[in-house]
Amino acid sequence: APRLVLVLGDQLTQSVAALRAADRGRDLVVMAEAMDEATYAPHHPQKIALFFAAMRKFAARLAAAGWRVAYSRLDDPDNAGSIPAELLRRAEESGAVEVIATAPGDWRLRAALEAAPLRLRMLEDDRFICSARDFAAWAKGRKTLRMEWFYREMRRRTGLLMEGDAPAGGRWNFDAENRKPPKAGLGFTDPPAFAPDRTVREALDLVADRFGAHFGDPEPFAWPTDRDEALTLLAHFLRHALPRFGDFQDAMATGAPAMFHSLLSPALNLGLLLPLEVCRAAEAEWRAGRAPLNAVEGFIRQILGWREFIRGVWSLEGPDYMRRNALGHRRKLPALYWGAPTRMRCMAEVVGQTRRLAYAHHIQRLMVSGNFALLSGVDPAEVHRWYLSVYADAVEWVEAPNTLGMSQFADGGAVASKPYVSSGAYINRMSDYCRGCAYDVKARTGPSACPFNLLYWHFLDRHRDRFAANPRMGPIYRGWDGRDSAARTRVLAEAEAFLARLDAGETV
Ligand code: FAD
Ligand code: SF4
Repeated sequence: APRLVLVLGDQLTQSVAALRAADRGRDLVVMAEAMDEATYAPHHPQKIALFFAAMRKFAARLAAAGWRVAYSRLDDPDNAGSIPAELLRRAEESGAVEVIATAPGDWRLRAALEAAPLRLRMLEDDRFICSARDFAAWAKGRKTLRMEWFYREMRRRTGLLMEGDAPAGGRWNFDAENRKPPKAGLGFTDPPAFAPDRTVREALDLVADRFGAHFGDPEPFAWPTDRDEALTLLAHFLRHALPRFGDFQDAMATGAPAMFHSLLSPALNLGLLLPLEVCRAAEAEWRAGRAPLNAVEGFIRQILGWREFIRGVWSLEGPDYMRRNALGHRRKLPALYWGAPTRMRCMAEVVGQTRRLAYAHHIQRLMVSGNFALLSGVDPAEVHRWYLSVYADAVEWVEAPNTLGMSQFADGGAVASKPYVSSGAYINRMSDYCRGCAYDVKARTGPSACPFNLLYWHFLDRHRDRFAANPRMGPIYRGWDGRDSAARTRVLAEAEAFLARLDAGETV
């Protein structure tokens, strides 16, 4: 009897473990667009269309390469609605009793597969540079896990940007050079937009029909949906953006949603590109003298360092991670995250761009929308659901540690050594948003005070017990304590009043 070979929507790699273990002449590949997967969070229409279109193209590619593929479209009348149910249906049809799967990057789906009455062979997803086992070995016995140490180890292991035993250029990290604010006339080259072909058009029509009410504009849809397009995007990035990736890595500018970022996360997360090949391609640009070391190191650190570290934390921490709430935050996610009007220019920019493009770059996610949710004390489960829904690159293994850990400190510090919070001054320094804002970023109190200024101190004050002893935060507390008590009381009272207006659903 054939075996079933499960290929999920983010496993679109010809060399994925389950396909390597299967027999083209005998086995049946199962791919399914499942209603369960499309609706467990209110995903952005572009995200659903991206997954479905890329899956359909990948299935066609497998068929052309000689595989037998049983593909279920969402609107097939027989579609059983979930991945396990589809496997059972295909098993019955084909007489198969065994399923070969690559482990999903989502604990919920992993548990559902394990619970299904099927003989399941679950293989490790070995598309990562560091296996879950190697990460666990690295983490063992360490009191705290820090990305920087892991990253250096990965540099040594892969030899990326190494000169013998030493880091290229004599330093592991060029972050200090990578914090330039945006300036006028930076001259971005727009990334290539992949105009919808027939497959994408059909997926967009389906999504408009079934998920039209979800937050997010379905078009313009510009994402790469197959490996060739992903390679085109990579080539464009290497040539036009990588050389300046470092300098402006933390900058934000109105009308420049991606700046010098790569937009490669959806292609990487779906499996159209492999992380190691992307790192090697960037390294080659430096070796050829086409991109400076601070840019190439900064970019490689995002993938070899952050992406792999985040994956390691996710696999180490297990399914309970999704329920963490170390700071005990309980506030509902404000309606402005779903597009309700706001006078905060930075939030309006980031949410508006997210709605249009299903994309925001890292600093927008971390220091604008994430920062505001953390300062306001929003329930991290609600923040998690939002990030999982609205970005084209959002899959649990990468979204959850970034949101719950790095951004919301809900894991109590497993990912980040201190909370990523700031007042308006940081946003003002790194962006041009404040110039057009109804609030005054310089005002610390009063009716036009920037809400980030009020909430920043409110956050620090209410979590003093946890953070005052942190060596990197101690000086901030000392500065606050040095202000006169009437001024402190006023800031906190105005912050309370702001939060009350937020809770009442007023436009803030
Ligand atoms: P670039 O700046 O060009 O970076 C290159 C690549 O490095 C990215 O494509 C990505 O694969 C990787 N990378 C960079 N930073 C990280 C990081 N912190 N963690 C993992 N990989 C990283 N990334 C996702 O892929 N999916 C998510 O769902 C996701 N959710 C996030 C939620 C929050 C609250 C925050 C703060 C960050 C999140 N990130 C997520 C990480 C990061 O913001 C995105 O990977 C990045 O913005 C994608 O844009 P880019 O491809 O242009 O990135
Ligand atoms: Fe955002 Fe405050 Fe600047 Fe307005 S003034 S854009 S709210 S940081």
